[in-house]
Amino acid sequence: MVKTFRFIPCPICGTQTNTKVLPETILIRYPLFCEKCRQEILVDVVKMKMVLSDAEDEPAGDEEAQKE
Ligand SMILES: [Zn+2]
Repeated sequence: MVKTFRFIPCPICGTQTNTKVLPETILIRYPLFCEKCRQEILVDVVKMKMVLSDAEDEPAGDEEAQKE
């Protein structure tokens, strides 16, 4: 039985990476490596739909201090 899979495209340049997913694959904060960008991009992949993972855990400085 042949599984339908697809390679995840780089969210930055659109180049297909060597990482493939199945419809039931769930990736959370997966460091997707792009050979073209030469860097890892954190992504979430659910049901073959990819979204960028926000690096909420990483301190990004006080660019915009939000008051609640
Ligand atoms: Zn790329």
